[in-house]
Amino acid sequence: MDPPVSRKPEKATEAEKKQRQRKKKTKQTLTCAVTHIRLIEANAGKLEALDQLVVEYLALTQQYVTLFCTEVEPSRYAEPVVETALSDRWHRVAIQQAAGIAKSWRTNRQAAYDAYVEDLAEYAEVKASALTEVTPLATSRKEPKWHEWNLPELRVPCIQANANVVVLEPSEDSTFDYWLRISTLDKGHPLRVPVRLASYQKQTLEGHTLNTSTTLHKRNGVWWLTLSFDTDVPIETEPSAPTVGVDVGIANFLTTSTGKHYGSFHGTLRERQKRDREKRRRKAKLRACLKKKGAEKLPSTSSATGQRLARHVRQSINQAVNQMLAEHPDARLIYEDLSVASMRFKARAMNAYLYASNLAHIPKQIDWATAKRGRAAHTVKAAYSSQECVRCHYVDRANRPDQKTFACVVCGYRDHADHNASDNLARRFGDQELAACRNKGEIKALLRKRHEQWKQQHGLPVV
Ligand SMILES: [Zn+2]
Repeated sequence: MDPPVSRKPEKATEAEKKQRQRKKKTKQTLTCAVTHIRLIEANAGKLEALDQLVVEYLALTQQYVTLFCTEVEPSRYAEPVVETALSDRWHRVAIQQAAGIAKSWRTNRQAAYDAYVEDLAEYAEVKASALTEVTPLATSRKEPKWHEWNLPELRVPCIQANANVVVLEPSEDSTFDYWLRISTLDKGHPLRVPVRLASYQKQTLEGHTLNTSTTLHKRNGVWWLTLSFDTDVPIETEPSAPTVGVDVGIANFLTTSTGKHYGSFHGTLRERQKRDREKRRRKAKLRACLKKKGAEKLPSTSSATGQRLARHVRQSINQAVNQMLAEHPDARLIYEDLSVASMRFKARAMNAYLYASNLAHIPKQIDWATAKRGRAAHTVKAAYSSQECVRCHYVDRANRPDQKTFACVVCGYRDHADHNASDNLARRFGDQELAACRNKGEIKALLRKRHEQWKQQHGLPVV
């Protein structure tokens, strides 16, 4: 008799693994923050120890940020290499915070640099075709330049602490809700600060267990505490839910493949932004003038109206996202995988608006608002989604005669430009061939192949 054959189970393919993951994912964990908790100074000078600590702490963290951004790969577990008056526990907290800051700085810088490289390649391509064809190079197009990023500088006193150095203890006394115990430079003499929550904050926290990590920051001479908790949100979207593409932009914050628009940076917001810019220009002039005359006190350059405007823009974005979600209650949302760098690329013609429009807040808000509601949302690669024809896949700048219009120069398909883009995004969900592309060049090649196939199917000559 043959011995029983024991066989290693075959490895699941990537697609099978993905499918399993998708099936398993019935909930997601959200981290919610409770902000605006003011630290009470029970008696004058009580928080002085914290002020002294944060000076040391910021200086130490800054050294690690610089190190992690320039020489060493950021790691929460990096060996301590800097001399400090702080305890080993505080030293570790500083390394961890620095690693987080450096990691995101490195990621964002790399994304911006990649966008620049692709931008440059595309520019070269356009320039080359302008030499051989009759289409002249658009005069507005300049060769993209790379400006090296500044290293992050820690200006605002902020501590992202863990339970090794800052502990929140429930208060026995009814006057306060908690005591915050903070280790200080003076070993064995922790600072104990009373914490009182507002009733709305207590309501938010009810039934949740607080995370042991806390954030402390100082603004305008006042210390603030931020607490957080994790919560599981079950995913409500049915597996069979229809997919709806969402295009993100300036003229329309959101355009869905169902043909609806939500919010806009044009109109009121644009007017306000213009006024703010004018105001700042006048202020800068005044500053320069006073400085020349040797005035000691100069008007500040920070703009309160600018901050108000940015807040207003974010509120408008949130409203647009909420309305879009309310009007598509059963849909699975597909939106662009956008980085701030690619946003800049997208808004090239409107760079001046970019800062105020805070465009990058849109995908963040879609992510947060859908997660909070247990709504399924996925990002897809967005390259050429605004230039690709949804009917024949032909990709060309010329398909966009103006900001609003899409008109395919091959098949004649016409649509609102943002609607065409949102249709493309919706269709890219589950498109594994496209998801596997590593850069814009590969995506362009794939779309060109699909266009040739479309032409064959329609009996058109293939180039
Ligand atoms: Zn077409």
